[in-house]
Amino acid sequence: MYKLSFLLLFIFASWSSVFAQHYSDYFNEKACRVDFHFCGNANQTSVYLDKISQEKFWGGRRAHLSDDLNLGDFRIRLLDSISGHQIYIDGFSALYREWQSTPEAKTTSKSFEQTIQFPFPMNSIILKIEKRVDFDKWEELFSYIISPTDKLIRLTNPKSVPIKLITKTVSPEKAIDIAVIAEGYTAKDKNKFYKDAQRLAENLLTHEPFTKYKNRINIYAIAAISQDSGISIPQKSNWKNTAVDSHFFTFYEPRYLTTPSSFKLRDLAALVPYDAIYVLANTKIYGGGGIYNFYALTAADNKLATEVTVHEFGHSFAGLGDEYFKENADVLDGMYDIKNEPWEPNISSLVQFDKKWKSQLSEGIQIPTPVNDSTKKSIGVFEGGGYLTKGMFRPFYDCRMRTNVAPEFCTVCQQAVERMILFLTE
Ligand SMILES: [Zn+2]
Repeated sequence: MYKLSFLLLFIFASWSSVFAQHYSDYFNEKACRVDFHFCGNANQTSVYLDKISQEKFWGGRRAHLSDDLNLGDFRIRLLDSISGHQIYIDGFSALYREWQSTPEAKTTSKSFEQTIQFPFPMNSIILKIEKRVDFDKWEELFSYIISPTDKLIRLTNPKSVPIKLITKTVSPEKAIDIAVIAEGYTAKDKNKFYKDAQRLAENLLTHEPFTKYKNRINIYAIAAISQDSGISIPQKSNWKNTAVDSHFFTFYEPRYLTTPSSFKLRDLAALVPYDAIYVLANTKIYGGGGIYNFYALTAADNKLATEVTVHEFGHSFAGLGDEYFKENADVLDGMYDIKNEPWEPNISSLVQFDKKWKSQLSEGIQIPTPVNDSTKKSIGVFEGGGYLTKGMFRPFYDCRMRTNVAPEFCTVCQQAVERMILFLTE
């Protein structure tokens, strides 16, 4: 614990030395939302703007605005258009980026909906959208001046959808606000959705470090109505009309459950102040997905829902990578190039291992760390992770990010989640 406290102190000291800046100097209480399309293929990516809206609530962070956790495959940077100062930065990932690593992206081009949200600026800003090309290298994809007085910024009135507060302990500016969105629940299923959301919330708050910080977490259940009950299962030619169009069989992987409809999803999330979006799918079938700073989605009624919801939230909330791997090819096994250090805090190709958990290892530790009774419970450098059996390493033998039998997140994952909670709330 001493080591962890020291680490956090160091991180805060580095943040505060970069650029002292007050939220109210640049932003008002509302949110600016930008909808766009990622278009391209395995080798090329473009950004096409769709629309810009002003939303009623900004639920995100009020401090560390221009500090960077260096997470995500993409990032936005906001620059004050007069001084050129960076006034906000935020990383995120995209379903599009995962698709780029699939065989289909080698032979065809596609477009994917993507949305970013940031505090609404009081003066003109330059929005930059950048793509990560290495652990600490970025390439600009898009640059656009946003004037807050632009009459074409949509002033939307959110839909009327019933909302239930599952847990609220502090005001949104000091909290992690989680918008839980109903998917595949008809009007008749509303009370079931509220019960499912309550169960998901209670379960999440039994996992560290969420337990430790549960008095900083607000959870809202947004009871979006679907025309059909249940979730689309394309591999069985079973398609449903649901609130945010989610489906299994993403990239032809049976259990991979995602939604392509970012814009509909954000219309629903905008009903509350939010830091994170959790889509709860009304199905018993095993599956889920989680994309950093975008959304998590899981099956509410599967017998492993307890484990899967926490795993997927690890991806979407803290940018944790999958620590699992399998001998046979995984649909995402082209995600990582081991010549580069991955940005996820809990996996490493050892190219820039000093940026990961290297300082926490005991002296003389064997790399790769052999698996035996004495190493199974301690921090090491275990080979296998990020869908790869070779060349990618994880810090613990087992973790919630590796298997459903692990009881909790490993220490390195817990530290990453804690760092994010503090980043968003202090
Ligand atoms: Zn872990």
